[in-house]
Amino acid sequence: MSYILRATAKGGDVRIFAAITTEMVEKARATHNLSATASAALGRFLTAGSIMGLMLKSKEDTLTLTINGGGEAGNLVVVANSSGNVKGYISNPFVDPPLNNKGKLDVGGAIGIDGTLNVIKDLGLKEPYSSQVPIRTGEIGDDIAYYFTVSEQTPSAVVVGVQVDTDLSIKSAGGLIIQMMPGADPLLADLITYRLEEIPQLSKLIGDGKSGEDILNMLFDDMDLKIFEKIEVGYVCDCSRERVERALISMGREELESIKEEEDIEIQCHFCNTKYSFTKKDIEEMIK
Ligand SMILES: [Zn+2]
Repeated sequence: MSYILRATAKGGDVRIFAAITTEMVEKARATHNLSATASAALGRFLTAGSIMGLMLKSKEDTLTLTINGGGEAGNLVVVANSSGNVKGYISNPFVDPPLNNKGKLDVGGAIGIDGTLNVIKDLGLKEPYSSQVPIRTGEIGDDIAYYFTVSEQTPSAVVVGVQVDTDLSIKSAGGLIIQMMPGADPLLADLITYRLEEIPQLSKLIGDGKSGEDILNMLFDDMDLKIFEKIEVGYVCDCSRERVERALISMGREELESIKEEEDIEIQCHFCNTKYSFTKKDIEEMIK
């Protein structure tokens, strides 16, 4: 089961989310037949998106994250709802550059840094909230941290990691988002940064069987750690034939008339690869 823990430390001065997302990322990998680097890139993005989904204020709100740095990976898209369920895709699921100079999967190289990270929140208002920041490293964690600091004025540490096994299955995946609330002692942020550097790599800890609780205790055991909630999250697509029909109808009469020329129309969901086929007659019905 993939899950997120919601916690605080130092009497609420520090807000913490810890995610264990191995199964979520494995489902994305199997759905899209991802290469190791694509798994790491999309897996990190899905993990961050899932946590950010939980930060949404109302039940109906949704969040869309996109990143495209001009690298071989192309466009990455993650959509999250307020329950922390996510779906996503990467334009190039086969991207697989050589390991980077640290011997790690080269997510930053695959994504590139010539572009922006976009955060779009549909909060049920007329216009969605949208914000974009330049890509820092393309490693995802750094880019999300930069977004929080610049666009939401919330200094944040973001750690996201995925370990891929030799058979390409996901060995471990997870993330931490740690945020300093207004008025928190600035030295506290330094201490937390130091501890994050001290502990073994997050994906390794999860691969070794450490739970979210274990990891939070390693970091915050002397800081009045309080764990409030454990929320089950997953990779879930909510597409349906009705939704695809509605999307087709929203294209307008002219577009529908032009696609009607083809005999059978097949539309594939980007997120789960389910295929929906429509006959000429179905399209004629929609035009009416
Ligand atoms: Zn779908």
